[in-house]
Amino acid sequence: MSPLERELRARIARDGPISVADYMAACNAYYYATRDPFGAAGDFITAPEISQMFGELVGAWIADLWNRAGRPQGAAYVELGPGRGTLAADALRVMAKAGFEPDVHLVEASPLLRQAQAARLPGATWHDDIATLPGEGPLLIVANEFFDALPIRQFGSDGRELTVAASAEGFMRSGRAVRETCPLALEIVAALAARLVRQGGAMLIVDYGYDRPGAADTLQAVSRHGFADPWAAPGEHDLTAHVDFSALAGAAGGEVRVYGPVDQGSWLRALGIEQRAAALTRSAPERAEEINAARARLTATDQMGELFKVMAMVSCGWPEPAGFPSNRLA
Ligand code: SAH
Repeated sequence: MSPLERELRARIARDGPISVADYMAACNAYYYATRDPFGAAGDFITAPEISQMFGELVGAWIADLWNRAGRPQGAAYVELGPGRGTLAADALRVMAKAGFEPDVHLVEASPLLRQAQAARLPGATWHDDIATLPGEGPLLIVANEFFDALPIRQFGSDGRELTVAASAEGFMRSGRAVRETCPLALEIVAALAARLVRQGGAMLIVDYGYDRPGAADTLQAVSRHGFADPWAAPGEHDLTAHVDFSALAGAAGGEVRVYGPVDQGSWLRALGIEQRAAALTRSAPERAEEINAARARLTATDQMGELFKVMAMVSCGWPEPAGFPSNRLA
């Protein structure tokens, strides 16, 4: 029995069943604190770990916006849940080429992943949560596969919140979910939108999810590149839920401009992934196949291209962001 399972059992024996949200929060905190889950040998792979093109295009998106905003002084790069720091390293390289070298602020809960990030981003500042982010100067915020890891609350058909109990066999949920919400995601988006209003800047959110509300039960456990039982071996699988993009847009409160969500595939194509792949192939022809496979994996509709969505929130004084069809202001 893992230390987390022992702790959860003791807690439930003492206080009674815990909410799905508390279970998910405890599982993911333990999961990310005890391993580097990314890549072929791990549990799942994310866009920046598939190819440098992803982080580079995010960096180009930020540099372009910053340029057209008049190159404001004192802007900071902020990333929520930066994983191994790969996206930030690729993005910052492109941004530096465009003359933009912001301070780097990383919001990361896992001590283990902070170490991996420090190896790539030596000058960064780390934060336990968004409260301590700089209070002055524009913020350019990136969150790739961050919101799906945040704890969700689930409710049954009688409207009651679902809970998790323990038995000799394992853990079990109190019923079937007909509705779910992610209060922490809404809280974070509302707070960051308020900062964009005050400080200027933009936030880019990339995640898998849906753009219409109403999903009932999207909680899943991911392990070894497949699905696992969320109620078995707590803390040994990644627990995730689909991101409700319309709820995030609503949480922004109408004071920032919201763009998207658009499919990741269209967004990356609009930003020039085909050209970037061609350029990389010209300088490393022996890698042509690998580069093309990565491009397809990031953009094809039967891979990450359609399931993953991109949404931007932009401060009102700032220009239109690249990659979103115009007139999609919300
Ligand atoms: N963005 C990275 C990693 C995605 S995995 C990539 O695309 O590869 C989720 C990341 O969010 C991990 O770094 C994890 O440790 C972090 N994380 C999860 N929940 C968090 C929380 N509540 N607060 C801060 N970081 C969190």
